[in-house]
Amino acid sequence: MLGLVTRHVIAIEGIVQGVGFRPFVYREATARELRGFVRNDAAGVTIEVEGEEAAVADFLSALRRGGPPLATITSIEARTTEPAGYDRFEIVESQAGADRTALVSPDIATCDACLAELFDPADRRYRYPFLNCTDCGPRFTIVRRVPYDRPNTTMRDFVMCSACQREYDDPTDRRFHAQPNACPACGPRLAEVADGGVLAEGEAALGRAVEALRRGRIVAVKGLGGYHLACDATSGAAVTRLRARKHREAKPLAVMVVDLAAARRLCVVDEPAERLLLSAARPIALLRRRSATHGGGGAGVAEEVAEEVAPGSGDLGVMLPYTPLHHLLMEAVARPLVMTSGNRTDEPIAIDDAEAQDRLGPIADLFLAHDRPIEAGCDDSVARIMRQGPAWLRRSRGLAPRPVTLPRPVETPVLGVGAHLKNTFCLAKGGSAFLSHHIGDLENLPAYRALERGIDHLAALFDVDPRVVAHDLHPDYLSTRLALEREAEAHVPVQHHHAHVAACVAEHGQTGPVLGVAFDGTGLGTDGAVWGGEFLIVEGRQFERAAHLGYVPLPGGEGAVRHPDRMAAAHLVAAYDGDPDRIPIPFLERFDPGELGLIRRMLATGVRSPPTSSVGRLFDAVAALAGVCHTARFEGEAAMRLEWAAEPGVTDGYRFALRDGMPTTADAGPVIRGVVEDVRRGERAGVIAARFHAAVASLVGEVADRVRSQTGIRVVALTGGVFQNALLVERTAALLDSGGYRVLLHRRVPCNDGGISFGQVAVAAETERTGG
Ligand code: ZN
Ligand code: ZN
Ligand code: FE
Repeated sequence: MLGLVTRHVIAIEGIVQGVGFRPFVYREATARELRGFVRNDAAGVTIEVEGEEAAVADFLSALRRGGPPLATITSIEARTTEPAGYDRFEIVESQAGADRTALVSPDIATCDACLAELFDPADRRYRYPFLNCTDCGPRFTIVRRVPYDRPNTTMRDFVMCSACQREYDDPTDRRFHAQPNACPACGPRLAEVADGGVLAEGEAALGRAVEALRRGRIVAVKGLGGYHLACDATSGAAVTRLRARKHREAKPLAVMVVDLAAARRLCVVDEPAERLLLSAARPIALLRRRSATHGGGGAGVAEEVAEEVAPGSGDLGVMLPYTPLHHLLMEAVARPLVMTSGNRTDEPIAIDDAEAQDRLGPIADLFLAHDRPIEAGCDDSVARIMRQGPAWLRRSRGLAPRPVTLPRPVETPVLGVGAHLKNTFCLAKGGSAFLSHHIGDLENLPAYRALERGIDHLAALFDVDPRVVAHDLHPDYLSTRLALEREAEAHVPVQHHHAHVAACVAEHGQTGPVLGVAFDGTGLGTDGAVWGGEFLIVEGRQFERAAHLGYVPLPGGEGAVRHPDRMAAAHLVAAYDGDPDRIPIPFLERFDPGELGLIRRMLATGVRSPPTSSVGRLFDAVAALAGVCHTARFEGEAAMRLEWAAEPGVTDGYRFALRDGMPTTADAGPVIRGVVEDVRRGERAGVIAARFHAAVASLVGEVADRVRSQTGIRVVALTGGVFQNALLVERTAALLDSGGYRVLLHRRVPCNDGGISFGQVAVAAETERTGG
């Protein structure tokens, strides 16, 4: 029954390297008695198979059904050619090609099979902190260049022992071509280090770190994408010490717990939350705390997290262990640990060992390190379950550098350098936008250098030479300077809120027209004002400002971010016709005479008080008036407190007044006067907060109705950092849904400034296409 023998040459692109793809191909081919080979190349994977036509067709459909769980196939191309006379099927060495487009997989949490070995006394990798296989382990953080092969990773200097090599060479083994494959005999080692020397190794080092953590000390732990600073999350004293040394006053800290059951003891873990916590990316999930455990003094149950971890917060950031080292550590410490990025506040995460000891030395009491270098720094990702499912507040470890698909392929490679805060950058080539890991706030030189380095690294990794560079309108941002210093065919300035809307629209595969609602803290507008309450009609590279929150002065400029009280003063004065004496509550008495004089002068003259339409700042003002936050110790604190304070069951709300014009303006005066009346009546803060959320939601509904009646547009994109607020998203989207709108919410890209670089790329891509 000899059928016709044909040879097929198959090119597969996508995330197909380092995820067990070739063993999968090997199994599928040999099971059908096909001959030929599979190999990684710069573009992905190439397969040649020879055999009977029916068997080859069957093989092809097996490929099309998808590979192993972690693989993502973006294209399969097959052509037939003359048989070459192969006599068996093999996996052959990688080839470096001219066009390097193979996608590097993100890092993957330890799989169940590896976890079982880790705690199996009979296994040769029993308690080995660096075990991994083709289904799990480090990827992006250890890759130096493509193709993804051991010599191109930071594992290159570890020579495999014969047992590891046998696994690596055996196509039927789980560790076949697992590039970071290692064991206690040949792989990286754990060490306690200090002053450049090793104090203890292996179990001894682990034991000393565990002991230190249990005694309330701060331990720097080298992980996948950088160092963490860890301490006992149940000890208020330990957390306070960490905060003091890290200069991080009040911003909530993330906690790692040993398993799902431990997460459940702290937080409400419903099914979507469970899936998020257990996903291969193992992000920090912001979950509702089970019970508010305020103050109380004495030592709580060991399982309970100290109030100092997330003071006054309704949510807690929780994550599960994602490396073997984390599993060993959590098992031994037997309590939740604070795990926060190893940096001084606002600096990038430390990755280099010497640099980490230098920078973190004043913070950490002990360093638990190892000798596998980290190539790319990658902070933990952060997600919150919202109406749309998990919404990424930080898209980094476990997700980067997975590309986001663009609505239309770009002809010329594009770089978007991103925003000033929560910076990421984005490189686009063809239909793929490679959205980078989290870089941080570009307020210091280390962050700027991390951005520069990151761009070079990803550009080399994906062979992108960006000829078009998109950047913010703000001339003083470090990102803008970096963009303008890069030689390119075109530099494209993109307004901040236009980028927000474009990001939301593009991740949904669209280019508009839509009504984009971009609410955030700050972004330079085309009129020089500080925008942040924008209704933009966006289509391709064009945008028209249909409406915005009415301008009020931003007293002291950007510094107002820290002073919700001052923002309240600005809104009060505006709401009462510019006359502070007409304000019917004694709010201004909060200020000492000197400060009040200064504020009154700034509001009267406009000196150091640019006009702003920021909805973020309006949240600040209302939070201050309601008494939930007078001074913000970190960005967004007032808005968070207002969200947590809002009482359920309150359905009525304040009203904005819409003023006709080009564009329409939304006057917050009536809202502020409504809040003041409630404050006067002694209404609860929770009621005020709920009425304010309702007001903002119905403002969106009203403007959407106006725009629809004028333009017919019935698609509304909600974007900007203000929409990290789950309550606001829920209320606004429900209202729009019932009004017959199609609502676009971010799912892949952060709605905050972490998504700006992707939006810049989306706008620049349209600019290029339309020849602008
Ligand atoms: Zn594994
Ligand atoms: Zn070995
Ligand atoms: Fe923004």
